[in-house]
Amino acid sequence: DLGSDVEVNAEVADEVDEDDLLGGLQIDSTAEIEVPDRLVDQVIGQEHARDVVMKAAKQRRHVMMIGSPGTGKSMLAKAMSELLPKEELQDVLVYHNPDDGNNPKVRTVPAGKGEQIVEAHKEEARKRNQMRSFLMWIIIAVVLGYSLIIAGQILLGILAAGVIYLAFRYGSRGGDAMIPNLLVNNADTQTAPFEDATGAHAGALLGDVRHDPFQSGGMETPSHDRVEPGAIHQANKGVLFVDEINTLDIRSQQHLMTAIQEGEFSITGQSERSSGAMVQTEPVPTDFVMVAAGNLDAMENMHPALRSRIKGYGYEVYMDDTIEDTPEMRRKYARFVAQEVAKDGRLPDFTATAIEEVILEARRRAGRKGHLTLELRNLGGLVRVAGDIARGEDAANTTRQHVLQAKGRSRSIEQQLADDYIERRKDYDITVGEGFVTGRVNGLAVMGEDSGIVLPVMAEVTPSQGPGEVIATGQLKEMAEEAVQNVSAIIKKFSDEDISQQDVHIQFVQVGEGGVDGDSASITVATAVISALEGVAVDQNLAMTGSLSVRGDVLPVGGVTHKIEAAAKTGLDRVIIPAANEQDVMIEDEYKEQIEVIPVSHISEVLDVALEGEPEKDGLVDRLKNITGQALNKQSVK
Ligand code: ADP
Repeated sequence: DLGSDVEVNAEVADEVDEDDLLGGLQIDSTAEIEVPDRLVDQVIGQEHARDVVMKAAKQRRHVMMIGSPGTGKSMLAKAMSELLPKEELQDVLVYHNPDDGNNPKVRTVPAGKGEQIVEAHKEEARKRNQMRSFLMWIIIAVVLGYSLIIAGQILLGILAAGVIYLAFRYGSRGGDAMIPNLLVNNADTQTAPFEDATGAHAGALLGDVRHDPFQSGGMETPSHDRVEPGAIHQANKGVLFVDEINTLDIRSQQHLMTAIQEGEFSITGQSERSSGAMVQTEPVPTDFVMVAAGNLDAMENMHPALRSRIKGYGYEVYMDDTIEDTPEMRRKYARFVAQEVAKDGRLPDFTATAIEEVILEARRRAGRKGHLTLELRNLGGLVRVAGDIARGEDAANTTRQHVLQAKGRSRSIEQQLADDYIERRKDYDITVGEGFVTGRVNGLAVMGEDSGIVLPVMAEVTPSQGPGEVIATGQLKEMAEEAVQNVSAIIKKFSDEDISQQDVHIQFVQVGEGGVDGDSASITVATAVISALEGVAVDQNLAMTGSLSVRGDVLPVGGVTHKIEAAAKTGLDRVIIPAANEQDVMIEDEYKEQIEVIPVSHISEVLDVALEGEPEKDGLVDRLKNITGQALNKQSVK
């Protein structure tokens, strides 16, 4: 059993209504949902990654996971460590090397034995010390007795006793050198180790030897006692997880590769000027399974030899961002809420309606019709914030109201920025929002991943000295050019103005740092240009998003939900979106009354909605309708 069909252990209605948010689960709260013991059974979605991890655990193969943050990569790596056999675990001891103090010896013993060995050595040292002090006192007594009684030399006797005492004290330090250093201790380990080496510096990853300020004179710490393990050593027989693998410096990646190849790696001082750098242990076992993770970039920037090492031995998986929204999946999401409550340990149980609200949010965040988001770290954040609010109120349960409150609070930095931006825009009145203006259109863009902003576009057309040019500001030039190119094919067909003889100036009222997706602004650019060209004004109480084909079809874009919400927050009354995106709209109820969403499938409809004035507009729209049909035919002849 691969554990992939784990069912929620709570009562499920016989006939499940497809639309039931809990997938037919008959519960009052998360208290009734059983959380599976094994981490691997707690993983939601990611079927493929989970299968790979389970197979890789059996075969002890390295795994590469590529995907968005918070989709369960480290969770799966940890789950993998639970699946590895515990019987093979080892303890590692470092011993003083009497032949060469700077080359400590390394011994490996079965888990649990290490502690016993160290104890035995300590016991022996204690006994030896007892013997020594016993011997010392006898000798002192004899010497003192001899000097005082027989020779009558009091001073000399005391002096001799002191010398003998110091000689024994000094000499006994050598005994400690015999006690080994328990480098890796698995005595109390319940599962194979899981070591997260994400962002680890060289010492933490590869081990280190501490500096010794007293390098001689009897005060020094023996070198074997200064040896410290790295993550690669602690992960022995377990899992070494490295997220953002590309951020490891090349030297560390090379060493990591050696450790994987050899299955052992000597420890030496990492800092060149430290006395630890003179010490190098015998090889220490590093027989781990590596789970490397990151986004697509990570893979490209990773040391190619290391990449191929993983690839050669192992398994590569891509993590899903969303999963199909089925009743079974929704039941698992209910279990997810229960899991997060159990994991935190302090959150009040979620009521059924509170769970439903979380599931609605999972739908909303998926940004894709009929799907739920798998960016579950963030969704877990929402669960925790909601639970914390409930706890703050000493509530018995976390209710839907708490979840709604939490949604307001757990906004991402981008959302907070976007809201702040919208607020400031309102102050300066950059978004006009009223009346009609020629050549100016409210576009919409997405900032970060989950926040929309209104992004006005202005166009002006002037006669050109030479061949017509598209003049746009900054980084947006490329996208503006493309949009104008698309649009000019359409404009040529209906306009008396020859756009190739004109300069088209396009200005995006700046958004600060990045975040504008070119494509989704193309109907905005088109509308602005047509408005400027024909001198017909555009409704400012309206925003739009959509991509444009050369035939004038309005094509779908990403992030419509966030964009619509941004338009509503800005105070606009209407928003145009591609008809193909209609199904992706999951705006919150509060916005539904504030804003009218107008789905369109052709640029002529956009103009019909956006432009002012009956006769001019109608003429334009009619011409567009007629002519793009022909444009379409001509295109297809080519
Ligand atoms: P990543 O390593 O991909 O950035 P993590 O594995 O650290 O993400 O996920 C963080 C937390 O989010 C997990 O501890 C778990 O609570 C939750 N989580 C993420 N993905 C899943 C999933 N697929 N199933 C269940 N919980 C998940």
